[in-house]
Amino acid sequence: MRLRNIAGSREVIADSAYTVKDPQTKKGLWKKEVFGNSKPIHIEIGMGKGRFLMDLAELNPDINYVGIEKYSSVLLRAIQKQEQRQLPNVIFIRMDAEEITEVFAPGEVDKIYLNFSDPWPKDRHAKRRLPSRQFLERYDKILKADGVVEFKTDNKDLFDFALEEVEPAGWNLDAFTLDLHNDPVMNEGNVMTEYEERFSSQGNPIYKYIVSRKGK
Ligand code: SAM
Repeated sequence: MRLRNIAGSREVIADSAYTVKDPQTKKGLWKKEVFGNSKPIHIEIGMGKGRFLMDLAELNPDINYVGIEKYSSVLLRAIQKQEQRQLPNVIFIRMDAEEITEVFAPGEVDKIYLNFSDPWPKDRHAKRRLPSRQFLERYDKILKADGVVEFKTDNKDLFDFALEEVEPAGWNLDAFTLDLHNDPVMNEGNVMTEYEERFSSQGNPIYKYIVSRKGK
């Protein structure tokens, strides 16, 4: 998702009370300094326009949510929604997730969501895919010991790739489904993302896994 050339989006982000500037300075301090509480931190990487994260935040006031998005023009849409919703437990960062270990301390994050991540179809770009082993290695550094990564997509090739990465990366496949919306157990409490609504309304099945390092 990339909304190109929205004039002034960088300035809006820089001025917004809903974004954290210089997020590296908050490493190890997210609960204390950013949220001012000791509630768990859940992050979504590649949140797009952020509706999923904000819906979760409304449902779960006892969790702190951090939305991470690479592009200003997309993040701008999330900020505009948050200006209307004013959820106290949501904050955004504009950054490339490749830098994630510079921003969160070991064990600082309780859960990571990846939703409809960019597929990067060329083999030589595999390491840019958010469920790749290179990214799992980064998540390993910031997730607490019993933390989980939840990944949803409608892209079968990307999902197959993600499944194949789990074991070599040293993670456990805790659960998966090839048809989330028709899986009563995994679909319970499912909050749809913007992409999920669009693709499932076109008849595409939604794939999901949950992975962890439990017992490792
Ligand atoms: N998660 C949303 C959803 O399900 O509706 C948006 C999905 S969209 C296809 C993927 C988003 O991930 C885009 O907005 C893109 O800019 C962002 N993204 C991709 N790679 C990223 C990275 N390395 N760091 C941060 N954001 C990234």
